[in-house]
Amino acid sequence: MYNTKKIVRNILGDKCSKNYSKKDIDSVELSGKRKCDFCGKEAKYDGKTQNGKWAYMCNDCFQMNGLGLGVGLGQRIKYK
Ligand SMILES: [Zn+2]
Repeated sequence: MYNTKKIVRNILGDKCSKNYSKKDIDSVELSGKRKCDFCGKEAKYDGKTQNGKWAYMCNDCFQMNGLGLGVGLGQRIKYK
């Protein structure tokens, strides 16, 4: 039960630490590799899914589950 709170806090902390660039609002730079929340492959996108939750997604899963790119929708992940 208590683990859920911890996970939520980790997710929020992760979102806050992202470095948004004004030049390219459709992408986000991350220092560490992220895995696709659906299949476990390397994530290429961080975006909203059809069930309203945000997830890291690889190309295939983004095409299937993502809503698109843009503010409030999703971003392409750039690895530093
Ligand atoms: Zn995937």
